[in-house]
Amino acid sequence: SQNDSIADKLSINEILITIKTTQIFHKTRLKLIAQTWYSKASNQTLFFSDAPLISGDPVFAAKGSVVALSKRLRVTDCPASHQRQALCCKMAWELDAFLESSAKWWCHFDDDNYVNVKGLVEALSGYDHRQHWYLGRPSIRTPLQILNRDDVTSHVVFWFATGGAGFCISRALGLLMMPVAGGGKLVSIGDRIRLPDDVTIGYVIEHLLKQKLTVVDLFHSHLENMQLLDPSTLSKQISLSYSAGENDVPDSLLSVPGLPTSIDPTRMLSLHCLLYPHDASFCPHDKPA
Ligand code: UDP
Ligand code: MN
Repeated sequence: SQNDSIADKLSINEILITIKTTQIFHKTRLKLIAQTWYSKASNQTLFFSDAPLISGDPVFAAKGSVVALSKRLRVTDCPASHQRQALCCKMAWELDAFLESSAKWWCHFDDDNYVNVKGLVEALSGYDHRQHWYLGRPSIRTPLQILNRDDVTSHVVFWFATGGAGFCISRALGLLMMPVAGGGKLVSIGDRIRLPDDVTIGYVIEHLLKQKLTVVDLFHSHLENMQLLDPSTLSKQISLSYSAGENDVPDSLLSVPGLPTSIDPTRMLSLHCLLYPHDASFCPHDKPA
């Protein structure tokens, strides 16, 4: 339950944010991140990719973000593919970065998430990192049911938080996960159940460790229709997203005023301007009429 006894408000410095990314998105998705929310959590964010940033990447051109972002990007030995193993490999790096850190919280997001840092800190402040917390949003209405590989006459039933919406795990739960899934072991668990990385996290926490996912509906992935989100609630949300359908036509977009869609097809720049009107030079407010 929500914890009222925490006197000190959580600070962003106590949260580790990890972002899974890949070479082909350095130019596009990382640039958007560098232009927007990254400035609010640059010392607390790590990117896990399969290639280094190169000097031609436009992410280098994002004002003030150049050095900071490349310093925060870890080049993993994970393959550059959308295959289950490659994604699980990056998630294992993300988990291990948390276990090696002293952060009270670990929050994973995809590179097509906008992380509302204020909303994230506010939301996590309601939970005690010394207790076991797995906070996120499932993308399916019923728990996942898979065959029990040790006893095929039975099933294993568990919830998992959609990686594309982001999820957060407390230090206490991280410590519980360490012997089971730390040090790269997450990859072998993923290989065993042959399911995606976010599902593997749910399997470890709910099935192996018998802890529960707490549904927090402030996490959002583009599996939802972003257009249905009430713009007046945006400052409280933890994560937002966008998706590009065929021919790169975005098909799940926030309905936010601001920049024209020609300049801001994902709506993430406009969202940032809504949350921080005086922050960026691209915000309409700062532009000459
Ligand atoms: N991703 C990756 N390697 C790939 C493709 C994607 O690490 O080859 C990452 C990507 O950067 C993102 C996440 O996996 O953080 C999900 O990818 P995407 O949004 O393209 O697919 P979705 O699962 O949302 O359809
Ligand atoms: Mn996505």
